Amino acid sequence: MARIIGSKCKLCRAYGEKLFLKGQKCSTEKCSVARRAFPPGQHGKRRRKDSNYGLQLREKQKAKRIYGILERQFNNYFKIAERSKGVTGEVLLGLLERRLDNVIFRLGFAFSRAQARQLTRHNTVYVNAKKVNIPSYLVREGDMVEVKGKENRVKVASSIRKELKDRIIPKWLEPEKEALKALIKRLPGREDIDFSIQEQLIVELYSK
Ligand code: ZN
Repeated sequence: MARIIGSKCKLCRAYGEKLFLKGQKCSTEKCSVARRAFPPGQHGKRRRKDSNYGLQLREKQKAKRIYGILERQFNNYFKIAERSKGVTGEVLLGLLERRLDNVIFRLGFAFSRAQARQLTRHNTVYVNAKKVNIPSYLVREGDMVEVKGKENRVKVASSIRKELKDRIIPKWLEPEKEALKALIKRLPGREDIDFSIQEQLIVELYSK
């Protein structure tokens, strides 16, 4: 995994968006994007004149950062999206959303996707009653996702869920009230992406 050194919420400011990269900071008022809504650094307040290419690259970096994936893996997702029916950019976002680590994060069982990845790697995540420790596993419609297994981690996930009880859970997921369990009701669509991203710019970048 790519590691980011330094303040994670500095990146939130750079992209003008809560990225939920680590821990619970983004879930609170402490995320610096709320306090200082302009990019960090000496020239942060200056208006940016990004080139077209710059903007396209930025959208791609943003998607990679948000989902915590590396270049090669991202390229693979793009290839799959390109070969699929439907609008390439939307299919691409749909694939990223279907990652198991993202699902665990979306359900509020972890503060960040990075933490959700850890939960998955540590054999605490089950899909249809089978252990799945691959964060990039793509969920399908009808899958039942559950956090169980390692005692301590289940407790942590459960307390996080309580703390994040106000988080809006996307409609394609149907969590069960008490258990750390949810049904994948349907596959995610464009309307389920709750952060700002212009996926068309990413598609343009690849079509050069
Ligand atoms: Zn933040």
